[in-house]
Amino acid sequence: MQSLSKLVKTPWFLGCLVLIFVAVVMWNIPIEKRKYGLSQGSLVTDYTGLLPEHIERVVTAENRNDLQRIVKQANENGKKISVAGLQHSQGGHTYYKNGVVLDMRTFNRILDIDEQEKTIHVEAGATWEDVQEAIQPHGLALKVTQSQSIFTIGGSLSVNAHGRDIRFGSMAETVKEMTLLTPEGKIKNVNRDDPDEWMKYVFGGYGLFGVILEVTLELTDNDLYTIHTEKLKTNEYESYFNRVLKQPDTAMHYARVSVAPSSFLDEMVVINYDHTGNKNHKSVLKKEEGVRISKMALDAGRKGGTLENLFWATQKRYIASLDGKEITRNNAMRSESTFMEYTKPGRVEVLQEFFVPVESYDEYLTDLKDIIPADDKSHDFKVHNITVRYAAKDNFTTLNYAKEDMLGLVVLIQHGLKEEDITNAESLIQSWTNLTLEHGGTYYLPYYRYQTKEQFKSSYPNWQDFQEEKLRKDPNQVFQNMFYEYYVK
Ligand SMILES: Cc1cc2nc3c(=O)[nH]c(=O)nc-3n(C[C@H](O)[C@H](O)[C@H](O)COP(=O)(O)OP(=O)(O)OC[C@H]3O[C@@H](n4cnc5c(N)ncnc54)[C@H](O)[C@@H]3O)c2cc1C
Repeated sequence: MQSLSKLVKTPWFLGCLVLIFVAVVMWNIPIEKRKYGLSQGSLVTDYTGLLPEHIERVVTAENRNDLQRIVKQANENGKKISVAGLQHSQGGHTYYKNGVVLDMRTFNRILDIDEQEKTIHVEAGATWEDVQEAIQPHGLALKVTQSQSIFTIGGSLSVNAHGRDIRFGSMAETVKEMTLLTPEGKIKNVNRDDPDEWMKYVFGGYGLFGVILEVTLELTDNDLYTIHTEKLKTNEYESYFNRVLKQPDTAMHYARVSVAPSSFLDEMVVINYDHTGNKNHKSVLKKEEGVRISKMALDAGRKGGTLENLFWATQKRYIASLDGKEITRNNAMRSESTFMEYTKPGRVEVLQEFFVPVESYDEYLTDLKDIIPADDKSHDFKVHNITVRYAAKDNFTTLNYAKEDMLGLVVLIQHGLKEEDITNAESLIQSWTNLTLEHGGTYYLPYYRYQTKEQFKSSYPNWQDFQEEKLRKDPNQVFQNMFYEYYVK
């Protein structure tokens, strides 16, 4: 008995107990999957669940003839159709009141990979994950995609997504050819010389100009990169970034801005992916790693105050630990996402993205401090995370967010679901949008529409061209969604 009480007091025994305790706690951190989207019975929602709506039915078509028949019938019967990929868009882009939703997830076949030409021909309901699995053995990689691989091709092209690559322009520019089901029910193959300019409206067109059935995408090599990280003061970033852009060895780049009270919008960390000159044909695609520990750290940051300072310190240390490591292009394009899941009842986590011209970045962040409080621990509206991406000028699509070379601030925000919480979030985001517009910027459209119609028109001066072409190409307005109804119709 005496020896047991002695043993209990030994440092190594106590250490082991603490370790076991920590392991049990960590193992029990729940990794929830939010329920959203088409599985919610007659009321459908998308990623945030903020806009539930009644729809007539969801169609999971077997083949393109089925889709064609549905579109032709809708034209005759005055029915409305929306198109859904994985519904990560957050403002009702994939459904419409009493309408029919085309669920594109079954159109996910890889049709051809041309190693010589470096292209892939693929159905639009496939995810980037599907594409990466197919092209990895050929030593190929995507030119442009989001940092995660969880989205469909059709959904990504319809928002004209962007990511960490700073060399290949917009995602729309990487499409060689596309097969489209038009609002009149015709199946057309179009390329970049198409006189009717379908691509100009379909990419970044939010499913309002037809259904993308197949695309041929340009690829590049699955190069091996060295990760290079640095800590900076925010006011050093603009000139730092301009140097990175001129330095051809850097293929990909992004940054994080501190939202911790002690260094709010003053500190940044940058992450570059620099060419090693090598390719890696044998590497495997990475799976989600360290989900529980990342979630524990993020949840601590979500509490604000001192814990958010600690979270920022931990992020800086983690990012510094990546310096010098090697990673393939494909793996840099498939970051973890599960740890971000947030399921607290009565609260929601949303994304917003604001773009400003590169040369406005510094003053913009200084002015932002007057709108968003540094310490939001006791506020309902909470900014959790800001990452910075580059979006090169887009001369191609009509609703283009990158009217010149822009830096995008991707912002993760949490707020309550009571009416006054939503009104407060709306008012803060509208002030943030006004500030962005004052600095010559714009905001991204796949997310919840806190912005006013006037702010939309100022951000997207080509909106009238978009509207007129919509009526020309879809005179019966067969393709509809809540995004169109709110902003454009
Ligand atoms: C966690 C998270 C991270 C994100 N990160 C990034 C990022 O790094 N960069 C970025 O640019 N965006 C980012 N986004 C936004 C994301 O790219 C969009 O939400 C994109 O639409 C997701 O694809 P999806 O398959 O979910 O499309 P959905 O949300 O299903 O659809 C989006 C739009 O595309 C239309 N559509 C879908 N399929 C087709 C089709 N086959 N033909 C015609 N129209 C179609 C829909 O009607 C809708 O208007 C992020 C979103 C989330 C939630």
